[in-house]
Amino acid sequence: KSQYQLDRVLIIGLGLIGGSFAKALKIRSCVREIVGADRSEEECRLGLELGVIDRVATDLEAEVSAVDLIVLAVPVKAMESVLEQIRPWLRLRTLVTDVGSTKGSLVAAARRLFGQLPPTFIPGHPIAGAEKSGVRAADADLFERHKVILTPLPETDPNATLELARLWQAVGAEVLQMEVERHDEVLAATSHLPHLLAFSLVDTLAREEENLDIFRYAAGGFRDFTRIAASDPTMWHDICVANRSAVLAQIDRYTTGLTRLRSAIDTGDSQTMLGIFTRAKAARDHFT
Ligand code: NAD
Repeated sequence: KSQYQLDRVLIIGLGLIGGSFAKALKIRSCVREIVGADRSEEECRLGLELGVIDRVATDLEAEVSAVDLIVLAVPVKAMESVLEQIRPWLRLRTLVTDVGSTKGSLVAAARRLFGQLPPTFIPGHPIAGAEKSGVRAADADLFERHKVILTPLPETDPNATLELARLWQAVGAEVLQMEVERHDEVLAATSHLPHLLAFSLVDTLAREEENLDIFRYAAGGFRDFTRIAASDPTMWHDICVANRSAVLAQIDRYTTGLTRLRSAIDTGDSQTMLGIFTRAKAARDHFT
């Protein structure tokens, strides 16, 4: 029996996440050969040069029909066109997964393209990232002690999910399973909303010329709260478009909460102010 979990993996999209997964699999010898594909020749060249992948896919169709696992690591908006490209060449037993930040739009696209979904199709999302992008930022330890959410569908073969879960565990991740809709709701609350708040706060302050200067007086709290506003704008645009309704629901919930706090401050309602701050502190202290 081979020492490897899988013989050959094709990673499409050699950016931060695709590159990090490739590097992590390679360093831990989970896969015999890692083939990379990216629409940017520069990322492919760099991926090879940095030893993130073993080989660049020159003929995508031939590669698709000769691998055990295909990982889609392109921006959310590009998922559908890549799925369309690979669909005709997919073998029956090849696992197909993705790393996209939203899941509903991908599954809808896959249903449109495939009709009946293949039992080897397992959407996924590693809850790990950085404000950097590109293969240069790839980090073999990015997924260590981080969660990966898999959202298998009713059509998915549980053995396929298990095989993919083992691969993520081998690179240090803790694997959870969730329904597609639940994933998009949870992530809208815990990831999408905070990013939008950070973007919106920094934009509101930076809009006024004279405010550029006040950043000099900002301390750790501002730095911590706004770190994620340095994330990739196009990626966050795609996430808002793909997860529109869940994101809107979270913005509305948050707006209601902020309005309640505003009114407590306005009317000098100390009980409400202290109630909000105390509950939030207790919840935050509980979360390590
Ligand atoms: P990235 O910009 O670093 O990499 C994306 C890569 O995909 C680029 O190299 C780009 O050239 C390539 N690409 C774009 N369109 C393509 C196409 N049609 N065919 C082939 N290659 C194409 O982005 P990233 O941060 O690695 O994000 C990749 C995916 O991972 C996204 O779906 C994102 O939602 C998800 N994700 C990102 C993070 C994060 O923090 N960055 C975390 C979890 C999940």
